[in-house]
Amino acid sequence: MQESPIPFHKPYITGKELAYINQAIAHGKLSGDGPFTKSCQTWLEKSTQQSKALLTHSCTAALEMAVLLLNIQPGDEIILPSFTFVSTPNAFVLRGGIPVFVDIREDTLNLDETLIEDAITPRTKVIVPVHYAGVSCEMDTIMSVARAHGLKVIEDAAQGVMATYKGKPLGSLGDFGAYSFHETKNIISGEGGALLVNNPDFTLRANVLREKGTDRSRLFRGETDKYTWEDIGSSYLPGELIAAFLLAQLEEAQEITRQRRLVWERYHALFESLDSKGILRRPIIPKDCNHNAHIYYVLLPTKEHQEKVLNAFKENNISSAFHYVPLHSSPAGQHYGRAHGSLAMTDYQSSRLVRLPLWIGLTEQQQQQIVDIVSKEI
Ligand SMILES: *Cc1c(COP(=O)(O)O)cnc(C)c1O
Repeated sequence: MQESPIPFHKPYITGKELAYINQAIAHGKLSGDGPFTKSCQTWLEKSTQQSKALLTHSCTAALEMAVLLLNIQPGDEIILPSFTFVSTPNAFVLRGGIPVFVDIREDTLNLDETLIEDAITPRTKVIVPVHYAGVSCEMDTIMSVARAHGLKVIEDAAQGVMATYKGKPLGSLGDFGAYSFHETKNIISGEGGALLVNNPDFTLRANVLREKGTDRSRLFRGETDKYTWEDIGSSYLPGELIAAFLLAQLEEAQEITRQRRLVWERYHALFESLDSKGILRRPIIPKDCNHNAHIYYVLLPTKEHQEKVLNAFKENNISSAFHYVPLHSSPAGQHYGRAHGSLAMTDYQSSRLVRLPLWIGLTEQQQQQIVDIVSKEI
């Protein structure tokens, strides 16, 4: 019997999105920074216990804003993993920064905090921990290395919304945190993102950069009576329809996370025996991390197994993916960045990782089918 196709990802809709979008239309304010944007920002500020959250049109935009705020200059170096999405280094490369790729940990596939200090040079300005799969980097160590060397920290928390480290929300631990609400993430608005400005030194300027380098946000707050060009900047704010959609999602963020966790836990239980026999490796969650079930992956014995499983999925109409083509071996990564030391762990893990479909509504039977295919191919 031919089973029906299983998509890799399916956007979850809470049911309140259209009502909020209609309210925004009725309101007659469709550009950015209207009431829905304010509500989303307040929600984020409450949930992260930070004083400033700014909605952006993507996590990429939030990262670019952080880079502008830190005045990254040509030749400045940025320490980050090679095992990440292109937006992490691109935000710096746009300003002439040089990504310095550091290897990842065997367990979480996150930046290996023990290798950071050795990669620091007099040109280093920033460390960018990326919380892969919504599992936190070892933030205490990363922050103390950063402080000891006078470096700033931008958390790429694109995948980390609703996840915590030692009880604190990801994105709230560094000087800045960048969130994504892209359709493929847990909490979505199609395209969307937010910058958490955790270091109050940067709050005022963040408002200016986001509004094309103007003091328009001060004008709205009644702090000035004219509106001028003050600084460099760009247009980083989303329109109100996006914010209306997002608010519907944020209000259900706990429930969305809870439901994703159920799907995640089901995979974890189904793969337990293969893991305990040493046939594959399941995700490892350190005790300080509470994750948000953004991704479920398995690590197979070899690259050949990865190819076999991906092919078998394709034959069975199951969409899956691997992650990532390591950036240090990509054309732009080689041109703009450099590797610090061996990136053997990055190469090894990315060659054997397979991401599995994970969305709310995926049935136990579909998950069993996926697990059966994996076990048959390895
Ligand atoms: C998704 C993602 C981004 C980019 O997010 P956008 O909102 O699409 O710009 C950046 N970094 C990581 C690690 C991501 O997973």
